[in-house]
Amino acid sequence: MTPTHVRARKRFGQHFLIQPEVTQRILQLAELDGSEAVLEIGPGRGALTDELRRRCKTLILVEIDRDLVADLRTRMAGDSDVHIVEGDVLKLDLGAELGAYAPLKVVANLPYNISTPLLARLVERPELFSRLVLMLQREVAERICAAPGGKEYGALSVAVQLAARPRIAFGVPPSAFRPRPKVDSAVIVVDPFENPALEADERASVRNITRALFSQRRKQLGNLMRRLCDDGPEILERLDIAPERRPETLTPQDFVRIARAIGKPPTDPSNPTAE
Ligand code: SAM
Repeated sequence: MTPTHVRARKRFGQHFLIQPEVTQRILQLAELDGSEAVLEIGPGRGALTDELRRRCKTLILVEIDRDLVADLRTRMAGDSDVHIVEGDVLKLDLGAELGAYAPLKVVANLPYNISTPLLARLVERPELFSRLVLMLQREVAERICAAPGGKEYGALSVAVQLAARPRIAFGVPPSAFRPRPKVDSAVIVVDPFENPALEADERASVRNITRALFSQRRKQLGNLMRRLCDDGPEILERLDIAPERRPETLTPQDFVRIARAIGKPPTDPSNPTAE
């Protein structure tokens, strides 16, 4: 039985799924055949967990809320293929904890406050995952899947799209959760590329350059590149990228070309982590 005696904790972004139809659609998107390892982030009261358990070989659960972990341990007692990790998923050593089960599928109704940094971390290790099915804030889902040219397109879109193919599967209204969130949600499917465009050591430099360029997205590339390195304008010319263009018009591959031409990661003093 789903434990409901524990009150929802706002600081952990707890909005529990209460519509079984939504659960079923998420499970369908995971396309589990019983042989896989699945990581569920934030199992909470288990709206997805029991169904996942029935459909996979190994289930790894990462939950930060101590009380919910206690319930999960009781519920999963004796099942040696369920591994419960109590703690913050953002601090998890992904390679060490998950490497032995790779490639895994990830299924999660994410706490909204961590969805952006978490996804950025997951796509840094695309080789660990075969599919991610994630519920997150609709606006974040749109940013992840955005094409160049619009205001939703930014550093997160580039980071994800260089490592994987993301798509929005369906929207979910606040009424599907208790307590109700203030915003709309969406479920996305992210399929990591088998051969990602970037080697691990290049990812950091592309990420730094992308963030630096998007930190002033209204500025023209010519000015932005001059700030990044002395020969910035010449690099643009060599790559045949007009200096009047703005960062949001570049494709993910353009950011890679710029990073490779610069050759080393510049540090952006104005805002190293901003999008
Ligand atoms: N999966 C459940 C469901 O669909 O009803 C709960 C989803 S709720 C939106 C998010 C869950 O993530 C909560 O159980 C919360 O305690 C957990 N959580 C929040 N922050 C976390 C973190 N940093 N690491 C691991 N779990 C976290």
